[in-house]
Amino acid sequence: MSWEEMGTESVTCPCGKGKIVRTNYGDDWNRFKESISICCPECSKKYDLVTKSWYKHAGDYGDAYYLLEKNYPEYTGVNLQDVFPDKVDINKIPFVEYLIKTYKRTDLFDVERELNNVTAVSRLTGIAADIAQKHKRAFDSAKITVLRQCVAEAGRRYNEFADNKEHRLPIEEQERQERYAYEEEKRKHMIFIPCKEIGND
Ligand SMILES: [Zn+2]
Repeated sequence: MSWEEMGTESVTCPCGKGKIVRTNYGDDWNRFKESISICCPECSKKYDLVTKSWYKHAGDYGDAYYLLEKNYPEYTGVNLQDVFPDKVDINKIPFVEYLIKTYKRTDLFDVERELNNVTAVSRLTGIAADIAQKHKRAFDSAKITVLRQCVAEAGRRYNEFADNKEHRLPIEEQERQERYAYEEEKRKHMIFIPCKEIGND
Protein backbone atom coordinates (compact mmCIF):
# COMPACT_ATOMS: atom_id res chain seq x y z
CA MET A 1 0.00 0.00 0.00
CA SER A 2 1.28 3.43 -0.76
CA TRP A 3 1.35 6.52 1.31
CA GLU A 4 -1.09 9.21 0.41
CA GLU A 5 -0.61 12.86 1.13
CA MET A 6 -3.14 14.02 3.69
CA GLY A 7 -2.25 17.64 3.98
CA THR A 8 0.48 20.15 4.57
CA GLU A 9 1.15 22.76 7.13
CA SER A 10 3.76 25.48 7.16
CA VAL A 11 5.37 28.11 9.32
CA THR A 12 7.55 31.02 8.28
CA CYS A 13 11.28 30.31 8.34
CA PRO A 14 13.72 32.30 10.53
CA CYS A 15 14.79 34.72 7.76
CA GLY A 16 11.17 35.38 6.88
CA LYS A 17 11.53 34.81 3.14
CA GLY A 18 10.41 31.22 2.97
CA LYS A 19 8.63 28.45 4.84
CA ILE A 20 9.18 25.28 6.74
CA VAL A 21 6.68 22.79 5.44
CA ARG A 22 5.41 19.69 7.08
CA THR A 23 3.56 17.15 4.99
CA ASN A 24 1.37 14.49 6.53
CA TYR A 25 0.81 11.10 4.95
CA GLY A 26 -1.54 8.28 5.69
CA ASP A 27 -2.17 4.83 4.26
CA ASP A 28 -5.03 2.35 4.08
CA TRP A 29 -3.93 0.79 7.33
CA ASN A 30 -4.58 3.99 9.21
CA ARG A 31 -0.92 4.57 9.75
CA PHE A 32 0.48 8.07 9.63
CA LYS A 33 3.84 9.59 8.99
CA GLU A 34 5.12 13.03 8.27
CA SER A 35 8.05 14.67 6.61
CA ILE A 36 9.38 18.13 7.11
CA SER A 37 11.51 20.29 4.86
CA ILE A 38 13.01 23.75 4.74
CA CYS A 39 11.56 25.52 1.73
CA CYS A 40 13.88 28.50 1.72
CA PRO A 41 17.22 28.64 -0.13
CA GLU A 42 18.76 30.87 2.49
CA CYS A 43 17.67 28.93 5.57
CA SER A 44 18.34 25.49 4.07
CA LYS A 45 21.94 26.63 3.58
CA LYS A 46 22.15 27.80 7.14
CA TYR A 47 20.26 25.17 9.14
CA ASP A 48 19.79 21.46 9.59
CA LEU A 49 16.54 19.93 10.73
CA VAL A 50 16.68 18.12 14.01
CA THR A 51 13.98 15.76 15.22
CA LYS A 52 13.64 15.05 18.89
CA SER A 53 11.33 12.44 20.28
CA TRP A 54 9.47 13.24 23.42
CA TYR A 55 7.48 10.95 25.61
CA LYS A 56 3.76 11.61 25.54
CA HIS A 57 2.16 8.90 27.60
CA ALA A 58 1.75 5.14 27.82
CA GLY A 59 4.62 4.26 25.48
CA ASP A 60 3.55 6.84 22.94
CA TYR A 61 6.17 9.19 21.53
CA GLY A 62 5.76 12.44 19.66
CA ASP A 63 8.23 14.26 17.43
CA ALA A 64 9.35 17.82 17.93
CA TYR A 65 11.22 19.64 15.20
CA TYR A 66 14.03 22.13 15.49
CA LEU A 67 16.45 24.00 13.31
CA LEU A 68 20.07 23.86 14.28
CA GLU A 69 22.79 25.87 12.57
CA LYS A 70 24.82 23.68 10.20
CA ASN A 71 28.13 22.33 11.47
CA TYR A 72 27.19 22.82 15.07
CA PRO A 73 30.03 21.10 16.97
CA GLU A 74 29.56 17.55 18.21
CA TYR A 75 30.08 16.63 21.84
CA THR A 76 33.81 16.49 22.50
CA GLY A 77 33.83 16.20 26.28
CA VAL A 78 34.92 13.26 28.36
CA ASN A 79 33.73 9.89 27.12
CA LEU A 80 33.93 6.74 29.23
CA GLN A 81 34.32 4.65 26.07
CA ASP A 82 37.48 6.57 25.16
CA VAL A 83 39.01 6.28 28.61
CA PHE A 84 38.08 2.61 29.05
CA PRO A 85 37.38 1.15 25.59
CA ASP A 86 36.70 -2.42 26.74
CA LYS A 87 33.01 -3.15 26.90
CA VAL A 88 31.56 -4.56 30.09
CA ASP A 89 29.51 -7.36 28.59
CA ILE A 90 28.59 -10.20 30.91
CA ASN A 91 28.56 -12.62 27.97
CA LYS A 92 31.97 -11.67 26.66
CA ILE A 93 34.22 -11.28 29.69
CA PRO A 94 34.86 -13.59 32.66
CA PHE A 95 32.22 -13.17 35.36
CA VAL A 96 34.84 -12.09 37.92
CA GLU A 97 35.92 -9.30 35.60
CA TYR A 98 32.33 -8.31 35.06
CA LEU A 99 31.84 -7.97 38.81
CA ILE A 100 34.95 -5.81 39.19
CA LYS A 101 33.83 -3.47 36.44
CA THR A 102 30.23 -3.24 37.54
CA TYR A 103 30.35 -2.96 41.34
CA LYS A 104 32.13 -0.87 43.89
CA ARG A 105 34.68 -2.69 45.98
CA THR A 106 32.81 -2.01 49.22
CA ASP A 107 29.65 -3.45 47.70
CA LEU A 108 31.49 -6.62 46.72
CA PHE A 109 32.79 -6.98 50.27
CA ASP A 110 29.24 -6.66 51.62
CA VAL A 111 28.05 -9.23 49.11
CA GLU A 112 30.87 -11.59 50.10
CA ARG A 113 29.81 -11.34 53.72
CA GLU A 114 26.18 -11.97 52.83
CA LEU A 115 27.11 -14.98 50.68
CA ASN A 116 29.04 -16.47 53.59
CA ASN A 117 26.03 -16.11 55.86
CA VAL A 118 23.33 -17.70 53.76
CA THR A 119 22.91 -21.22 52.46
CA ALA A 120 20.39 -20.65 49.69
CA VAL A 121 20.48 -18.27 46.74
CA SER A 122 16.80 -17.53 47.30
CA ARG A 123 17.72 -15.88 50.61
CA LEU A 124 19.96 -13.26 49.03
CA THR A 125 18.94 -9.61 49.05
CA GLY A 126 19.93 -6.39 47.30
CA ILE A 127 23.11 -6.44 45.24
CA ALA A 128 23.83 -10.05 46.18
CA ALA A 129 20.45 -11.10 44.76
CA ASP A 130 21.13 -8.95 41.72
CA ILE A 131 24.46 -10.69 41.10
CA ALA A 132 22.89 -14.14 41.53
CA GLN A 133 20.19 -13.25 39.03
CA LYS A 134 22.70 -11.99 36.47
CA HIS A 135 24.75 -15.16 36.85
CA LYS A 136 21.63 -17.25 36.41
CA ARG A 137 20.64 -15.39 33.27
CA ALA A 138 24.11 -15.53 31.70
CA PHE A 139 25.14 -19.07 32.66
CA ASP A 140 21.82 -20.71 33.43
CA SER A 141 22.88 -21.50 36.97
CA ALA A 142 23.46 -19.70 40.26
CA LYS A 143 25.09 -21.93 42.83
CA ILE A 144 25.99 -20.25 46.08
CA THR A 145 29.42 -21.90 46.14
CA VAL A 146 30.23 -20.59 42.68
CA LEU A 147 29.00 -17.10 43.56
CA ARG A 148 31.09 -17.10 46.73
CA GLN A 149 34.18 -18.03 44.75
CA CYS A 150 33.60 -15.40 42.08
CA VAL A 151 32.85 -12.55 44.47
CA ALA A 152 35.83 -13.40 46.68
CA GLU A 153 38.10 -13.50 43.66
CA ALA A 154 36.69 -10.19 42.42
CA GLY A 155 37.55 -8.62 45.78
CA ARG A 156 41.09 -10.00 45.72
CA ARG A 157 41.83 -9.01 42.14
CA TYR A 158 39.97 -5.70 42.16
CA ASN A 159 43.01 -3.50 41.60
CA GLU A 160 44.38 -5.62 38.79
CA PHE A 161 41.86 -3.90 36.55
CA ALA A 162 42.40 -0.23 35.82
CA ASP A 163 38.82 0.00 34.57
CA ASN A 164 37.27 -1.25 37.80
CA LYS A 165 34.03 0.38 38.91
CA GLU A 166 35.78 2.66 41.42
CA HIS A 167 37.81 4.10 38.57
CA ARG A 168 34.86 4.28 36.23
CA LEU A 169 32.59 6.14 38.63
CA PRO A 170 34.25 9.58 38.60
CA ILE A 171 34.52 9.46 34.80
CA GLU A 172 30.89 8.41 34.45
CA GLU A 173 29.90 11.33 36.65
CA GLN A 174 32.10 13.78 34.75
CA GLU A 175 30.68 12.60 31.44
CA ARG A 176 27.14 12.98 32.74
CA GLN A 177 27.82 16.56 33.79
CA GLU A 178 29.66 17.49 30.60
CA ARG A 179 26.97 16.00 28.38
CA TYR A 180 24.33 17.86 30.33
CA ALA A 181 26.22 21.16 29.92
CA TYR A 182 26.70 20.43 26.20
CA GLU A 183 22.99 19.77 25.69
CA GLU A 184 22.05 22.88 27.66
CA GLU A 185 24.28 25.01 25.45
CA LYS A 186 23.09 23.32 22.26
CA ARG A 187 19.49 23.93 23.22
CA LYS A 188 20.16 27.68 23.10
CA HIS A 189 21.10 27.31 19.43
CA MET A 190 18.06 25.30 18.46
CA ILE A 191 15.02 27.00 17.01
CA PHE A 192 11.79 25.25 17.76
CA ILE A 193 9.41 24.79 14.85
CA PRO A 194 5.88 25.07 16.12
CA CYS A 195 3.75 22.35 14.52
CA LYS A 196 0.31 21.26 15.47
CA GLU A 197 -0.22 17.74 16.68
CA ILE A 198 -1.64 15.53 13.92
CA GLY A 199 -2.29 11.91 13.11
CA ASN A 200 -4.02 11.13 16.36
CA ASP A 201 -7.09 9.13 15.62
ZN1 LIG B 1 14.46 31.53 5.33
